[in-house]
Amino acid sequence: MDCDLHVHTRASDGSLEPEQVVALARETGLKGVGITDHDTVSGISRAVDAAKGMGVRVVPGIEISTEWLDDEVHVLGYFINYQMPWLKDRLRQRQEGRIKRARKIVKRLNQLEMPVSWEQVARIAGQGAVGRPHIARAMVECGFAADINDAFVRFLNRGCPAYVPRSHLTPEEAVKIIRTAGGAPVLAHPGLIRKRGLMAPLLEIGLDGLEVYYPQHNTATVEWLLELAQEKNLIPTAGSDFHGNIGGYAPMGACRVSWDTVEKLRERATRHGSG
Ligand code: AMP
Ligand code: ZN
Ligand code: FE
Ligand code: FE
Repeated sequence: MDCDLHVHTRASDGSLEPEQVVALARETGLKGVGITDHDTVSGISRAVDAAKGMGVRVVPGIEISTEWLDDEVHVLGYFINYQMPWLKDRLRQRQEGRIKRARKIVKRLNQLEMPVSWEQVARIAGQGAVGRPHIARAMVECGFAADINDAFVRFLNRGCPAYVPRSHLTPEEAVKIIRTAGGAPVLAHPGLIRKRGLMAPLLEIGLDGLEVYYPQHNTATVEWLLELAQEKNLIPTAGSDFHGNIGGYAPMGACRVSWDTVEKLRERATRHGSG
């Protein structure tokens, strides 16, 4: 009766189509799967359709990338009304920002004597929301990096020579987008925030949950987050951040919540429910 609440598809930078993600969720024995692509909802309806009659439930979600105090913060949103036209418009702007940023990164790589082309990156990304993992894959194809992680560590991470900041959006603005879309906002992988002392203000921006269980969270981090969740009346969630069969990511179902957590998220979402 479990659910993996953090899964990417080819609608962003995952390697599996939404239908394949649903089929894998069933094979994995999951009752549900949260589709949380980066800054897009374009994979959700395909996943929902594929899940019909499969015995798998799809939790419609999103993962919005934001910038906060010189760090990167991701905000998950569950049970969003993903067909709202204003939401699609707002996300289309984010996608345009992603394309601009990716083109700048490619230019930077070219200046660093790595002739990766935009066409190659665009081919790898396909219909998906373009992101650094696609650029990393192009670099691997060209032999400029040993694997995706190597590309990030040497070139693409913040502070590295080919890093380009994204168009600015704050975690608070992401929370507002999610709540306006009738969803429940949850702070993604808080353990990856570099300065823990800076967590406090993030807990006051209107979140409904904290992603406590995450492949890269160790026992001490989980304990710390569970305490915070209890203190602030936030729902502890779990997700694998599955990206498909590309190296370096955890398998689907690596972190799971029981179904009552899903119901709690639904309740909170309904409470915001503006439509
Ligand atoms: P972007 O959306 O372009 O900012 O890229 C962020 C994505 O890069 C996230 O989905 C992360 O999972 C992925 N990512 C960040 N660091 C690494 C890494 N070292 N190896 C593989 N993927 C990474
Ligand atoms: Zn990703
Ligand atoms: Fe993330
Ligand atoms: Fe993710």
